[in-house]
Amino acid sequence: MWTSWWLWPLVAVCAADSFRNEAERIMRDLPLVDGHNDLPWQLLNLFNNQLLQEANLTTLADTHTNIPKLKAGFVGGQFWSAYLPCETQNKDVVKRTLEQMDVINRMCQMYPEDFMCVTSSEGIRQAFREGKVASLIGVEGGHSIDSSLGVLRALYHLGMRYMTLTHNCNTPWADNWLVDDGVDKAQSQGLSDFGQQVVKEMNRLGIMIDLAHVSVATMKAALKLSKAPVIFSHSSAYSLCRHARNVPDDVLQMVKETGSLVMVNFYNYFVSCSEGANLSQVADHLDHVKKVAGAGAVGFGGDYDGVTRLPVGLEDVSKYPDLIAELLRRQWTEEEVRGALANNLLRVFEEVEKVSNHSETPEETPIPLDQLGGSCRTQYGYSEAPGLHQQPGALLAFLVPLLFSLQPL
Ligand SMILES: [Zn+2]
Repeated sequence: MWTSWWLWPLVAVCAADSFRNEAERIMRDLPLVDGHNDLPWQLLNLFNNQLLQEANLTTLADTHTNIPKLKAGFVGGQFWSAYLPCETQNKDVVKRTLEQMDVINRMCQMYPEDFMCVTSSEGIRQAFREGKVASLIGVEGGHSIDSSLGVLRALYHLGMRYMTLTHNCNTPWADNWLVDDGVDKAQSQGLSDFGQQVVKEMNRLGIMIDLAHVSVATMKAALKLSKAPVIFSHSSAYSLCRHARNVPDDVLQMVKETGSLVMVNFYNYFVSCSEGANLSQVADHLDHVKKVAGAGAVGFGGDYDGVTRLPVGLEDVSKYPDLIAELLRRQWTEEEVRGALANNLLRVFEEVEKVSNHSETPEETPIPLDQLGGSCRTQYGYSEAPGLHQQPGALLAFLVPLLFSLQPL
C-alpha cells in the first residue's frame, strides 16, 4: 500500500498506547505488590522520623515514593523496609529497628485513607478491596535481631513478616554477598548451627526468609533447609549482570524447585552492571527469571528510595505500568503478568503461613557466647555459677564440710 510508509509510526504509537492501556486495565483489577522500598530510611535520614511536623507523604518531592506516585503506579502492596546499616550491628540496632517499625505503623495511622498496615496474605487482599496500599514490614537484615531468638520472636509479634538474613555484612550466623567477592571472609559457610535455628524459627513463626544480600552458600543452605518457599525481596539475575548481589542460574533452578520468588531489583548497577540502565533491561531480567525459574517465580522489588541510580523510564514508583506494558509487548500472558504483579507473592506468603505452627516447640538454644561480637554487651544468662565440674578445688571445699556434717555430733 502506498500509504503504509507514513502510517507505520502511527501504528507503532497506537500499539504502544494499547499495551499501556492494557497494563492499566489489569492493574486496576490487581495492583502491584513490591518487595522492597526504603522510604522509612529516607524518613529517618531526612526528617528524623518526624511525620507530624516535617514529612508530608502527599507532597514529598525529593523521594522516589510519595502517595500520589504510589497511586499513579497502581501499587497496592508494599513491603516497607525497616533497614539499618551494618554499623549499627552490636550497637543500637534493636532500638533503631523498633523505631523503623514504628515509623511504618505511624504512616498507616497518619494516612488511613491511603495505607493499611497488614500482617497476612488475607490482609493484603483486604487492602486491595479497599483500594489502599497494603503495608507490611520487612526487616533488613539479620543483624537486627542481635543474634537473639527472643528478639526474632518479638519482632514477629510487632509485625515483621520478612527478614533479610544479612545486609552488607556477616552476622555471627550467616554470610553476606561480599564473601563471594572476596571482600569479607566466610564465617558460617552459609548458615551456622544458630543460623539454621533462626531459619527454622522463621518457618515456625511464619516469617518469610529473604535471601537478598546473602552469599550464594547462604542462599543454598536456606533454600535447602526452609520448609516454606523463600523470597529474594530485591535481587536481579546474575547471568545478565555479574554482580554478587544478583541470583545465579543454579540458585534460580532451586527457586523453581521450591516454588520460591525473585523480586527483581531496578538499581542500575544490578541491572546493567554500569551507571546507566533502561526499562527494557529491567524487563530482560524479568524475562530471564521467568525463563529459568518459571513465570511463578517473578516479582518486583524496585529498591526505590534505597538506591541512587534508577533506569531511564523507571525513575520513581509511578512508572510501574510502563514496565507492565513492556512485558505485555513481550507477549507475557495476562496470567503471567498477574502472577508477577501480586499472585506469586500471595502464593508464597500463603505457603509460609501454612507451614507456620505456633503450637510447635520454639527454638531456644542461645548462640554460643564466643560467637557473639561486640564489646559492650552484658552476659546475663551466659555467666554460669562457678560449675563444680569445672573446679575440682571447689568441689572438695563443698564436699568436705558436707561429709563432716554427716558425722553424729
Ligand atoms: Zn538492600
